[in-house]
Amino acid sequence: MKPARVSGGRRLRFEIFRYNPEDPRSTPHMQDFELDDAPYMSLFLALNMIREQQDPSLQFDFACRSAICGSCGMMVNGRPALGCRTLTSDLPDVIRLHPLPVFKLIGDLSVDTGTWFREMVEKSEAWIHTDKVFDPEAVEERMDDDLAQAIYEGERCIECGCCVASCGAANVNESFAGPAGLNRIARFMMDPRDQRSDADWFEVVATAEGVFGCIGMMACHDVCPKELPLLEVYAYLRRKSLAAAFNRS
Ligand code: SF4
Ligand code: SF4
Repeated sequence: MKPARVSGGRRLRFEIFRYNPEDPRSTPHMQDFELDDAPYMSLFLALNMIREQQDPSLQFDFACRSAICGSCGMMVNGRPALGCRTLTSDLPDVIRLHPLPVFKLIGDLSVDTGTWFREMVEKSEAWIHTDKVFDPEAVEERMDDDLAQAIYEGERCIECGCCVASCGAANVNESFAGPAGLNRIARFMMDPRDQRSDADWFEVVATAEGVFGCIGMMACHDVCPKELPLLEVYAYLRRKSLAAAFNRS
């Protein structure tokens, strides 16, 4: 992470999307708040100050404050980002905040990413498929280091939804697996403990809902706060899909 630019002395204007879908009197609108900038202030701190000092009804999500829980994804001046990792010193005087698109809006900046991720996991059956019966006495099986590292890379996803929100395909096609979904599928395709065949995977991934739904502009790669190697993930999925297609013919 690059060193923070010290930025006290500025007056920041926050233009924040407000809407409570549970309240029939609520209509979508932007609301302005002002705050003095402070060195090393993150959006997490700024939004908490606004809620504590100016409007206790403001809704947004945070939990860990350290880019691990994936709760605080939001659109920051039109770009998906984590609130806890975004410093006001890196932003202009006017900071426009919207909820992430694609996900169901809970209220203001708060969205339900959990339902989207659960449906994606269920649809792609993103868990180990094996007929092997678990033997607690068995000797631990070794895995090649490079393969273990590749699987670990996929597991680093914190399910923040930033990549999904940035993805043109996911925004227009709700059945598209999305970048995070493709990453999760690849993680299980690589895993030697998963006994699904190339033909099984072909049905999951070589479709418009899978990797061929991706239009390849790589916005997802640019916004992922964990810098997951999504470019390599799609290349892997395309190679595997083509290999499975040749094996079928
Ligand atoms: S590269 Fe593919 S998955 Fe990534 S944002 Fe673009 S369409 Fe979505
Ligand atoms: S791939 Fe990156 S941007 Fe997408 S959900 Fe995972 S951590 Fe977030």
